[in-house]
Amino acid sequence: QAERRRKPDWIRVKAPTSKGYAETRRLMRDLKLNTVCEEAACPNIGECWTKKHATVMILGDVCTRACRFCNVKTGMPRVLDPMEPVNVATAAAEMGLEHIVITSVDRDDLPDGGAGHFVKVIQELRARAPNTTIEILTPDFRGKMKRAVAQIVEARPDVYNHNLETVPRLYPTVRPGARYYASLRLLEEVKNLDPSIFTKSGIMLGLGEQRLEIHQVMDDMRSADIDFLTMGQYLQPTPKHHKVIDFVTPQQFDALGSIARAKGFLQVASSPLTRSSYHAGDDFAEMRAA
Ligand code: SF4
Ligand code: SF4
Repeated sequence: QAERRRKPDWIRVKAPTSKGYAETRRLMRDLKLNTVCEEAACPNIGECWTKKHATVMILGDVCTRACRFCNVKTGMPRVLDPMEPVNVATAAAEMGLEHIVITSVDRDDLPDGGAGHFVKVIQELRARAPNTTIEILTPDFRGKMKRAVAQIVEARPDVYNHNLETVPRLYPTVRPGARYYASLRLLEEVKNLDPSIFTKSGIMLGLGEQRLEIHQVMDDMRSADIDFLTMGQYLQPTPKHHKVIDFVTPQQFDALGSIARAKGFLQVASSPLTRSSYHAGDDFAEMRAA
């Protein structure tokens, strides 16, 4: 069994106890919504939920893939909940969200990979929470990417996010079932179809990647015209998951962030606790105001 390395001091996580946390939790339970905050055991849950910022995970809570870094359950997914799009929009309206992040498990079992369900969620959000900006974080839609992306782009989310997760060399061990260049092409396709949609991607650090490999990923992302980049420390959710190979220091994250900005990303978030959806709304609002 993998030995768990002690977390350094800069990865401090407060226990979630606030009133805002309890309210977000209640709303999610009442509307039968899953969140990646809980499913992925995200270290920021106390802070985010206190501020009523949550990332909703649609298409169920069971994934058809089994990435080595991810805490989401793997197996045979359940049938789709037809009420989910309305419930997501109700949550956004009740919480008065300025920005919502919608992600999902992979549904390789569905003919459209779940793209139609993403579209319904976007449409319900536009109807019931018209002031909320929408960020979607989708799977790679393996084997049906072009159709799925075309369908979703037509629904016009504000930000289209899809994570590359790691450097190409580590895909077979970290992200089996996915292809680095297929993920890159997906984001390129979004921009080709509608350049007004912001594209975003992220990687986890601490999985054994080399610095030059990170630079190469940044270059690949810029070649695909990706606008926003997130980089955060990988944390091992359970001893069965991929080991943490190293803890990247806050200074190293800052240095990588500067390099990324120099390469032309419109927005870069780079720190140990950065997650794909961490401060997504604040950052997006700041960028639009600039
Ligand atoms: Fe949820 Fe994202 Fe915040 Fe983590 S960083 S708690 S996944 S909203
Ligand atoms: Fe987790 Fe996404 Fe991989 Fe499924 S596809 S195991 S939800 S990271």
